[in-house]
Amino acid sequence: VVQRTQEVRSALIQLEDAHRRLRDSSRRDGLTGLYNRTHFHDAFDRALEQGREEGKPLSVMMIDLDHFKQINDRYGHLAGDDCLRWAAQKIGQSLRTHESSLLARFGGEEFVVALPGYDLPQAIAAAEQLRQKLVEEPCRSGEHAIRVSASIGVHTLDPSRMPEHDADASAMLAAADHALYNAKACGRDCVRTSLTAV
Ligand code: GH3
Ligand code: MG
Ligand code: MG
Repeated sequence: VVQRTQEVRSALIQLEDAHRRLRDSSRRDGLTGLYNRTHFHDAFDRALEQGREEGKPLSVMMIDLDHFKQINDRYGHLAGDDCLRWAAQKIGQSLRTHESSLLARFGGEEFVVALPGYDLPQAIAAAEQLRQKLVEEPCRSGEHAIRVSASIGVHTLDPSRMPEHDADASAMLAAADHALYNAKACGRDCVRTSLTAV
């Protein structure tokens, strides 16, 4: 009976492990290994709720690689994939010093980062650090050295500045996306916030 119990217990542990791995992989992006949009939405909702309860700011950045279609056209789709993986890695490295940050591939050549507890100046600094990290060296793919830059839109929800403001996740993402649009309009490879006019 003791042996049988041990067998069943060990089978259960294996099953739980497989389940955990499956659940994790359904939350990951296949190309970059980053979290996907589904996971981001869940985690961001929780961060928003927590920020509201604790009265702390929450920042978000939308990151879009510049002229990515040209990179694909010039070097091919596989090199484009290399650039995407490389950019994901660089962004991850840049965020390592920002422990609470949450990074995901939002889709295509777009990434999103949540920064719980970050006010606007702190979020701008993190975005600027990230932008510079991408352009400090090119991505190597085969014999090519490909320059990859990004435009970044930043938006912050700060209860200490706007106590009555109860924005939801999609409104925050829309504001960051609008800031990103401004960064593109300002010539790309730059950071803009939802407060900056074009
Ligand atoms: P902009 O600076 O305005 O953002 O220009 P862009 O060319 O980056 O933007 P656009 O939306 O015109 O093109 C995005 C390109 O990204 C087109 C699409 O083929 C490419 N792309 C999206 N996902 C992938 C992917 O997984 N791999 C590769 N290689 N390319 C991808
Ligand atoms: Mg895009
Ligand atoms: Mg782009």
